Amino acid sequence: MTTYVWDYLPEYEAEREDLLDAVETVFRSGRLVLGPSVAGFEEEFAAYHGSAHCTGVDNGTNAVKLGLQALGVGPGDEVITVSNTAAPTVVAIDGAGATPVFVDIRESDFLMDTDQVAAAVTPRTKALLPVHLYGQCVDMAPLRAIAERHGLAILEDCAQAHGARHHGELAGSLGDAAAFSFYPTKVLGAYGDGGAVLTSDPDIDAALRRLRYYGMEKTYYVVQTPGHNSRLDEVQAEILRRKLRRLDAYVAGRRAVAERYREGLGDLAGRGLLLPSVTEGNDHVYYVYVVRHPRRDAIIEHVKRHDIALNISYPWPVHTNSGFAHLGYERGSLPVTERLADEIFSLPMYPSLPAGLQDKVISAVREAVLSV
Ligand SMILES: *Cc1c(COP(=O)(O)O)cnc(C)c1O
Repeated sequence: MTTYVWDYLPEYEAEREDLLDAVETVFRSGRLVLGPSVAGFEEEFAAYHGSAHCTGVDNGTNAVKLGLQALGVGPGDEVITVSNTAAPTVVAIDGAGATPVFVDIRESDFLMDTDQVAAAVTPRTKALLPVHLYGQCVDMAPLRAIAERHGLAILEDCAQAHGARHHGELAGSLGDAAAFSFYPTKVLGAYGDGGAVLTSDPDIDAALRRLRYYGMEKTYYVVQTPGHNSRLDEVQAEILRRKLRRLDAYVAGRRAVAERYREGLGDLAGRGLLLPSVTEGNDHVYYVYVVRHPRRDAIIEHVKRHDIALNISYPWPVHTNSGFAHLGYERGSLPVTERLADEIFSLPMYPSLPAGLQDKVISAVREAVLSV
């Protein structure tokens, strides 16, 4: 059987009773849409982060899009972000009618190079969109200073950073609003799609609630500004409530997997294999375990012979996608992003990864690195 970088079935076997009870709870509640489970999850997810408000939405892409719209971003505005991210970050900016503006990333942790942000600000800039990629946070202090100086909003893309901390504070509590995805692979994953936006500003939260509900305050009410339907599903919300209680355990499990990789592969730096580095002040949650090697493609091919399928997050930086050619970024315009895209690859990472399977991966990667 092929080993993939992610699998939820071991977790499902371990949590089956609780998850099926969550489904039964909703089916028996008499409320299938925006009922007590969505409200309960919103309250508990906000409380976990020490935020005043949480609005559940249908997925992470719409969490980013609606988050931007609630912050006042729209057509004609620019949003500064990175090209080394999941495409949905940028698709969501486009969906809000705004223009993405990319800065490069740092060689050390593959995250937004905040030293480049000030120069990217123009009179049209409306928001900064840091992506806490792979499970650790972007340096927020310089972004806050720039935002304050130019009157910009900050939306955190936390789709990969549930439970991550930055100088002791949780990702999701570091800007004006924060967008989360609960896509199944994420650190807090549903059994289907889901998303949420956190904020401590009641007006932003009220805007989000209208945006996810046709533009209405409440049922059978007037539409002020037309919105769409972006509700979080009640069944997914109840599953997420159950899983939120285990979030800290999931994070601990991911860290244990990361530690085992460090023990098994940490000595190969001299052979060109670089493991993830954790930036000072960050507690990493290892959404994906991204390593780097100049002969990445040969290593992936070699490991495939052992029936292990590795991933690349992400092989094509967003600015090189044909759908974003109109933005006008030439090859070479984001040199660190482009170089890393040719060298990075991901090893299997999920909290229920069986130790025996991980040991197989470690020995296959060792063999590959020592032979290429
Ligand atoms: C997963 C992800 C999203 C999108 O979430 P969906 O729930 O799949 O729509 C957005 N941004 C980042 C960084 C992601 O990893």
